[in-house]
Amino acid sequence: MAEDRTAELEAMLEKQRSAFTASRPEQLSARKDRIERAMALLKDHGEELCRAMNVDFGNRSPMQSMITDIAGTVNFGKYCLKNMDKWSRPEKRKVTFPLGLLGAKAEVRYEPKGVIGILAPWNFPVNLSFNPLMQAFAAGNRAMIKPSEFTERTSDLMAELVAKYFDPSECVVVTGGPEVAHAFSSLPFDHLVFTGSTATGRKVMEAAAKNLVPVTLELGGKSPVFLGRSADIAKAGERIALGKMMNAGQICLAPDYMYVPEDMEEGAVAAVQLGVHNMYPKLRDNEDYASIVSDRHFERLQGLVADAKDKGAEVIEVNPGDEDFSATNIRKMPLTILRNVTDDMAAMQEEIFGPVLPVKTYKQVTEAIDYVNEHDRPLGLYYFGEDAGEREQVLTRTISGGVTVNDVIFHVSMDDLPFGGVGPSGIGSYHGVEGFREFSHARSVYTQPKIDIAKLGGFKPPYGAATEKAVKTMMK
Ligand code: NAD
Repeated sequence: MAEDRTAELEAMLEKQRSAFTASRPEQLSARKDRIERAMALLKDHGEELCRAMNVDFGNRSPMQSMITDIAGTVNFGKYCLKNMDKWSRPEKRKVTFPLGLLGAKAEVRYEPKGVIGILAPWNFPVNLSFNPLMQAFAAGNRAMIKPSEFTERTSDLMAELVAKYFDPSECVVVTGGPEVAHAFSSLPFDHLVFTGSTATGRKVMEAAAKNLVPVTLELGGKSPVFLGRSADIAKAGERIALGKMMNAGQICLAPDYMYVPEDMEEGAVAAVQLGVHNMYPKLRDNEDYASIVSDRHFERLQGLVADAKDKGAEVIEVNPGDEDFSATNIRKMPLTILRNVTDDMAAMQEEIFGPVLPVKTYKQVTEAIDYVNEHDRPLGLYYFGEDAGEREQVLTRTISGGVTVNDVIFHVSMDDLPFGGVGPSGIGSYHGVEGFREFSHARSVYTQPKIDIAKLGGFKPPYGAATEKAVKTMMK
């Protein structure tokens, strides 16, 4: 029986909420100081965190981790510091005519919500804990973080470091497995940000609903690649290979499957293969190529390939160094391209989240558009090509969280663009001004002038001529 840590978590939340209430209004200088400390933590201990991620994965290039989890997050902190004065300024709004002439005023103030819960996955354990944290801090909140149990060393190290750089009333890291995660998502936070799978996202929303806690859900899905006829195939192949091979495909935005014109399939598959060969002459003993995070995840991916093969798919293993993967326990898996895929294959039903790339073909691009529209709205969608008409046809007839044109994944690295899904791939977003607003309460403040507006507007009994006149004006 797992230990029930609800009381301990509630006490942490209570401590943060009391400190938050006592310190209002939360000065911008205090918020900036927190962001700077989070940045200092990452700068001072980046290498240590990268080593921990390497051990947690079995192998994950510390250089890759440095870019994706450390430097990218510090950079996002800088972006928040640069923009938060502007984001937090109250906005003047219009008042109903002619109230402005009489001295009425209206404004929106973006105020902190209080304590934000952050539930993070294992695939970018530092980035997906600290990026939401930066914006939660920018908006003047406190935060509790629950990182993944699959990256245990990294989670423990984050807990230790956060305790060193922050008072528990400002930020705290809670570690533990699914039971702790469930208790965490059941707390009456002022907002909860969850990054993880769609299935767990459902459970998190259900738990949050009990307390009417607003949620941001950053989920997954099957992000399609549309290869247009006008695409530069060699370049597209290289970029798709990079997006599919980074972190061994364990990226929420990794291209999930590729849709190509029927007569260009051979060329497209060859271009992806060439892309892999150029970046990874070897895979097994190559530090640059990540392992699959756990035996369970590895077996699931092997299962997807076996199932596709059983059901008639052609399986192309891209193994540039002709290495033997069977006799190792390092959980490295070469890119596996699947051709002739059908909808009854698990690889076409589940989010892949690993180095497996199904390829589908179309005669007309409208077939690919219809296919995407018949399935869950994806997190990302990618179009390669120079045909502006076709590009707009694809973009305006599909729906996805975000889009990168002529590459994959990159829209997430544009700090000023909101990042999030739609429907089954997510609810709400962060990054950009949208992220600041997601973690703020837009509070409407209206100031009434001295003159008796209720009487003038006919709202005050006894109703009579003024009321009739007001109704007529509004209905005109
Ligand atoms: P996951 O859903 O298994 O776990 C995520 C977090 O949820 C972990 O901290 C875990 O402890 C917690 N959790 C587990 N059971 C829970 C429960 N019953 N109640 C509450 N919390 C619970 O996801 P994962 O395997 O760590 O990550 C992979 C998934 O995350 C993929 O689907 C991927 O697409 C998605 N993802 C999305 C984004 C994004 O920004 N949209 C980014 C990265 C990953």
